[in-house]
Amino acid sequence: MSSAGPDCGERLDVFMGRANALYYATRDPFADFVTAPEVSQIFGELLGAWCAVVMDTLGPDVRLVEVGPGRGTLMADMLRVLTRIAPSRLARLSVHLVETSPRLRRAQEQALAQFAVQVQWHDALGDVPEGPILLVGNEFLDALPIRQFVRTETGWLERYVQDGQWALQACPDVPLDVTERGAAPGEVIETCPAGQAFMRELGRRVSEAPGAALLIDYGTSRSCVGESLQALRQGQPVSALVEPGTADLTAHVDFAGMARAAAKAGAVCDGPVEQGAFLIALGAIQRADALCKVAPAQAGSVRTGLDRLIGPERMGRLFKVLGVRSPRGSPLPGFLQEHGEDT
Ligand code: SAH
Repeated sequence: MSSAGPDCGERLDVFMGRANALYYATRDPFADFVTAPEVSQIFGELLGAWCAVVMDTLGPDVRLVEVGPGRGTLMADMLRVLTRIAPSRLARLSVHLVETSPRLRRAQEQALAQFAVQVQWHDALGDVPEGPILLVGNEFLDALPIRQFVRTETGWLERYVQDGQWALQACPDVPLDVTERGAAPGEVIETCPAGQAFMRELGRRVSEAPGAALLIDYGTSRSCVGESLQALRQGQPVSALVEPGTADLTAHVDFAGMARAAAKAGAVCDGPVEQGAFLIALGAIQRADALCKVAPAQAGSVRTGLDRLIGPERMGRLFKVLGVRSPRGSPLPGFLQEHGEDT
């Protein structure tokens, strides 16, 4: 790694944004990684039931929003549950998908064609019509571009990408959330400006109209020191600097930082809690038991899927769930309160 002069390529977040836009537009991401809704229908069914309960607190004309909907599997599983348990609410619901990849938009359209709901696509949350929202996002934040700063004895350097190599450049205006984390010389700090901007927009919306959201992703509950940027190609880890668009680039989500951004914009956050605890609180084990009873031949795969979602060594601990809501609302279902009661 070398220091570089003023013209030293692309800042990491610019490179990562370009690489991921190309990747999602041209590749099948699910050849490289598997997400919770693709692991088991239980994930989307529980989130659908969660939506049915929370929707009742938000008044009429709720926009059901999903950010980064992938193949549309999560929304399809949620809509199947809502059709069954809240059909009258469903009739008054509009569905909004925030998705930048034309290829994945087509997959989502196919997955949702079976439901009697109106679906609209948007490039960003800011394009979704104002008003009450109920939003979910699974593995959306980890795909958003990050910046990386390296602490040195004399100040901060920022990572750039030049001709497939790392380059470092002095940064005159290092963000406060980077400098205040107490890094030692040689240590790296990551920050996700696009994620923060998204959380500010979400926070503003739920403070101005009734609203609630769940952001589920892998990451840390507290803002940490260290680097987590990773690239996967055909399921294998590769350098993050490979040819843009050929690998999926992700980074751990700093949930504390995301919660701070939403709170600054007027929202209240619940959690983050671990995915395993959250899904168990929502009834994951009972749902798996019920599925095994109706289809005993599938019991093995139901149990394997459940274990992947909630197992502490699987997705149960690394993945976290953050709730975001209007300040006047009550705590969201599934988040343990300090006195140990589930609400
Ligand atoms: N939620 C899905 C897919 C996760 S993959 C699942 O759990 O299976 C990340 C998703 O976010 C993809 O749909 C990708 O196209 C979308 N995405 C990535 N960056 C985005 C951006 N900046 N704006 C909107 N969508 C984005």
